[in-house]
Amino acid sequence: MVKQLCLHLEKIESEKGNITVASRSLVPPAYSYHSIGDFDVGKKGWGHQNFTANFARTEEFWQLQKLSYVSMRYTIGNGDGVRFEPWHIKIVS
Ligand SMILES: [Zn+2]
Repeated sequence: MVKQLCLHLEKIESEKGNITVASRSLVPPAYSYHSIGDFDVGKKGWGHQNFTANFARTEEFWQLQKLSYVSMRYTIGNGDGVRFEPWHIKIVS
């Protein structure tokens, strides 16, 4: 919770105080699905490129799409108003 608050405040600062823009890519504390089981994935050796839309073009991404027990949390045009995050995975129960 404290870490998420720090990250969120840093994001707001980097967006020159625009909380709406900041919240599209870094949610406020208690609004992160990471605290209830979501996780981020990536391609080994890809570094920060994993956290871009380019991850959706990797073989690793397409392998994930075949798994019935996980899915993408933030698809294009998601209802949460969050940017497209192909690396952010939720567990499907
Ligand atoms: Zn995430």
